[in-house]
Amino acid sequence: MVQMYNLHNHTPFSDGAYTIDELCEAHLKCGWPVAGIGITDHLFATPSSREVHNEKEFDRVFGKEARNYVASVKEARKRWAGKLQILCGCEINWPLNKGQLDMARNMLTGIDYVLFEFVDWAGLTTLANQARRWPCPVGLAHCDVRVQFPNTSLDQVVRTLANARIFYEVVSKLIPLGEHEAWFKVVPSHRVYVTVGTDTHDDLECLKELPQMYEYVVSHGLEQKILIPSIRAETPVPVAP
Ligand SMILES: [Zn+2]
Repeated sequence: MVQMYNLHNHTPFSDGAYTIDELCEAHLKCGWPVAGIGITDHLFATPSSREVHNEKEFDRVFGKEARNYVASVKEARKRWAGKLQILCGCEINWPLNKGQLDMARNMLTGIDYVLFEFVDWAGLTTLANQARRWPCPVGLAHCDVRVQFPNTSLDQVVRTLANARIFYEVVSKLIPLGEHEAWFKVVPSHRVYVTVGTDTHDDLECLKELPQMYEYVVSHGLEQKILIPSIRAETPVPVAP
């Protein structure tokens, strides 16, 4: 049996209704053996109306918030150690942040993986060109490839993801997954990794969808391509002589 991880959950830090502890409890009680969860709150998104022009300003607007976020996820990780593994991901809105990616990338200390949402084809090619520069795995959140890349063949999309090592998220929003059969037929023959997530916001009922997504992934030959990002090592604190 595959170890189940739910790698897409929001908390009140952004637009989720449940705290990390509540999410952990719900996952442990949901009836399936869940090995870990990923917290993926939106970063660099508020205040969305504000234009940020330089690194200093970006840090002033988002820096503290991002550091607090990472710190609170890490504290939860310690509290739940031995019961449930907690990964610290984040979700980044592509259209909102595509002009400040260098700044965002420098602010990901402690982030284990990034989900990008609303990436269009131009965005994906941009991301593909720099995906390996990111300090952790990056992937596409809740992406219906036919809708998001309507003018690009499935083959070209899958090759782009494989070459750039951008992972693909299998997510509740795509259920019934059978409607995406054409896409899931091409994915397994390329080196594309997948994550599984429910994109939990205010309804824990979605946790019921985890097993069917895992079954679908396994039945499509993707078992070996399930990505569980590793927890990034802390930067060692210099020890005084
Ligand atoms: Zn989300």
